Formats: sequence, structure tokens, C-alpha cells
Amino acid sequence: LSERLSGVFDRLTKQGALSDEDVKTALREVRVALLEADVSLPVARDFVKRVQDKATGQAVTKSVTPGQQVVKIVHDELVHTLAGDTEDPGKLRIDSPPAPILMVGLQGSGKTTTTAKLAKRLKDRDGKRVLMASLDTNRPAAMEQLQILGVQIGVDTLPIVKGETPVQIARRAKTQASLGGYDVYMLDTAGRLHIDQELIQQAAEVRDVTNPRETLLVVDGLTGQDAVNVATEFDDKIGVTGVVLTRMDGDGRGGAALSMRAVTGKPIRFVGLGEKMDALETFEPERIAGRILGMGDIVALVEKAQQTLEAEQAERMMKRFQKGQFNMNDLRQQLEQMIKMGGMEGLMGMMPGMGKMQKQVAEAGMDDKVITRQIALIQSMTKKERANPQILQASRKKRIAQGAGMEVSDLNKLLKMHRQMADMMKKMGKGGMMKKMMGQMM
Ligand code: GDP
Ligand code: MG
Repeated sequence: LSERLSGVFDRLTKQGALSDEDVKTALREVRVALLEADVSLPVARDFVKRVQDKATGQAVTKSVTPGQQVVKIVHDELVHTLAGDTEDPGKLRIDSPPAPILMVGLQGSGKTTTTAKLAKRLKDRDGKRVLMASLDTNRPAAMEQLQILGVQIGVDTLPIVKGETPVQIARRAKTQASLGGYDVYMLDTAGRLHIDQELIQQAAEVRDVTNPRETLLVVDGLTGQDAVNVATEFDDKIGVTGVVLTRMDGDGRGGAALSMRAVTGKPIRFVGLGEKMDALETFEPERIAGRILGMGDIVALVEKAQQTLEAEQAERMMKRFQKGQFNMNDLRQQLEQMIKMGGMEGLMGMMPGMGKMQKQVAEAGMDDKVITRQIALIQSMTKKERANPQILQASRKKRIAQGAGMEVSDLNKLLKMHRQMADMMKKMGKGGMMKKMMGQMM
């Protein structure tokens, strides 16, 4: 898959600008990649449409390597979709003790394991006192399973009383959590192989008697598209505050994550990465995004290519500077670079020996707007004038300033800055300072 994608993007990078057709071709591949990663069809379709809108719009404004741009847009959009507006997925709402956390999901999805993993995390990281209770009255030994894990991680479990219903156990857990001074109590429910009404009904009753602060849906990350239906059903009937994707240590491509997020709008909070008790991590959109598209290597490649490109440009410029060549075109490039790198102040701050200039710049109020206007002034010059600004006569200066909608004094300021910088470049070039400076800028 990566090969196919990189082929498409290679072709793209060889062209100057990005046409609608190019974007379409690339996105067809992206769509296949999504489907192969088990993203559901409507979600993939919708996602590609969004990327297409962004890509075609952006390509007109920027001319730098279009293929790279598409990769970046796809990647960013993926991360954006996965992350939603959840600031810190790993932060559970467990104020006002004892805070109930309800764990729901299909049988074998990893509820019991995740319950214990989370309890351990709350205990170790947040210093919380946690009580775990198994409400699984269906499967023999399910309660013992949680008890054994509890002993293993040093977290209390509610004593097992045979013959109770899940709701009765939930009530007892609530009482015990209050009396015992626990910060959190976790309710590990029974699952079924498929969603059925009894299961949902049970979970709803438990919800009603405990009023959970968090209801986490545990989903097997390998189940793919199916997972979305499960999530939708659970959310409709019980109300879910977050999703935990398990078995993300497996071969699955993580497409379920995207589908789930897109369809239910529920944040993915944690991912399970193994059977061990510490194999639970806060959900990181970037990681899953890389995995879904299988483009991690391409993204890295793209970044490297971009760096090389910039380094080559810098090298060329450096050679010119060392020869004392610094014309208006160079200045313009520098100014554009400045905007890219967070304004004049930011750039100067990165250069050694430029503290004084930085101060001047700050005093002159050189923000992006000013820089943009300076670029406009340079654009109003003829080719000859840009190469050799000394030839500018008063009448031409007036015309240029007018053309850019500014005063002659603005142009004079720009010319003065150019002279100062050219001077400085020359001096620095001689001292070998340039190389160091460029090195830092990259
Ligand atoms: P439950 O029926 O939903 O309670 O599922 P369990 O917690 O009993 O887990 C079922 C199986 O999946 C067990 O063998 C777990 O060790 C395993 N499991 C759970 N989470 C993960 C995970 O993140 N990665 C892997 N590889 N196995 C997991
Ligand atoms: Mg279980």
C-alpha cells in the first residue's frame, strides 16, 4: 500500500501545481488505504471529500511540492478527526468521590482486563483509592478473574456474593465505596457475543442506580467496521462518555478508531496494547493516524525531502551572500521566510549576534503586516531594480511606493534595511559566521 501511495505522490511532486485531477487520483488511493484499514465506507467517503475540499483550495495558494501538501493535508485531517475537540483524553472525571465508572462492551472485548488496567493507572498515577466490582453473573469465574487481577495490582475488589443480580451488586459496590472512603469505584459488566436487549437493559439499570461519571465502551480494535454498530447501539441506549480500543498491539490497522470517532462523535480515551496490566496508554491521534494510512514512512520521507530542499536553498543563498551578493530578491526571500518562521523577532532571536538588530526590529514594530507590505514594495520594482536597488531615482521611488500603496519614506526604510543587512551578510560571510547562522535557521 505504501508503495502505491508513494508512487502517486512521486508523480505529483514532479509537477508544478496541483490540479483537481491530481488531487482526485491521490485521494482515490487514500480512500483505498482507509478501506483497507477497516474504515467504514461512508466514513472513508466523507473523509476523502473533506480532504479534497481542503487540498484543492490550498494548492492554489502554495506552489511547494503539491504531493507533499496532499500527504500533509490527509495526515492533518486524520489527526483532526481522531482528536476532535477532546483536550486530554486520558483525564477521567472522577471528582466528587466515590466516582462511579461503568465499563460496557461485548464479551471478550477486554472489559475486565481494561477495568483492572485503568484501576492500576488511577492508583499509580493519580494516587486514587479504587474499588472494583464485577457485575458479570453470566460467565462462570468472571468475578474471580477480576478478583485475581485485583490482588495482582493491589486494588480492592468487592467481595463476591453468589446469587446477586448485577443491579444488586452495583448497589452494594456503591455503598461499599462510600463507607470505605474510596475515590473511585469501577463496575465491570457482563458482555454478550452480540448486542441483545437483555444486555442493554441490564446495563441501563446499573446506570440508573449508580449514575456513572464515566461510561467507557470497550471495543476490540481488531473488529473493524462491526465496532461502529456496536458503539452506536451502546451510545444510543446507555450513553457513552468515551471509548477504549483494545488489542491495538495486534495487526489491525486501527480503522475502527476513525469510524468510531466519525460516526459516534465519542472521544477515544485509551488504547490497550497487550495483556499485561500496564499495557494501557492514553489515546494519541498522531500514532493512530500514521497507522491507519500506513504512511508513517512517507510522512517521514516528505519531511526529510522538505528539509533537504530548504537546506539546498540555504546553501545557494549562503554562497551568494559570501560573495557579497544580497539583492532585493534575496531580501524578499528572507522576508517570506520570516513570516513562515514566526515573524522577524522570532527569526532574529534564532541568529547569533543579532540581538541588537532584534531590538531595532522590535522597536520598528516589524510584524507580519509590515513584512507583507515590504514584500509588496519589492514586488513593485522592476527586475533590474531588484537586482541593483542603487539605481533607484526619486521619481521611480515615488512610483514604486504608489504602486504598492505606500509612502516613499516606507520605501526608504526598506532600502536602508536592505543596505544594513547586505553589509552584515558580507561581514558575516567573511567570518564563516554565515554557515553557523544558516545551520541554526534550518
Ligand atoms: P471481557 O470479556 O470484555 O471482560 O474481556 P477480557 O478482559 O476477559 O479479555 C479477553 C481477552 O483479551 C483476555 O485474554 C485478555 O488478556 C485479552 N486482552 C484484553 N485487552 C487486550 C489488549 O489490549 N491486547 C491484547 N493483546 N489482548 C488483550
Ligand atoms: Mg469480563
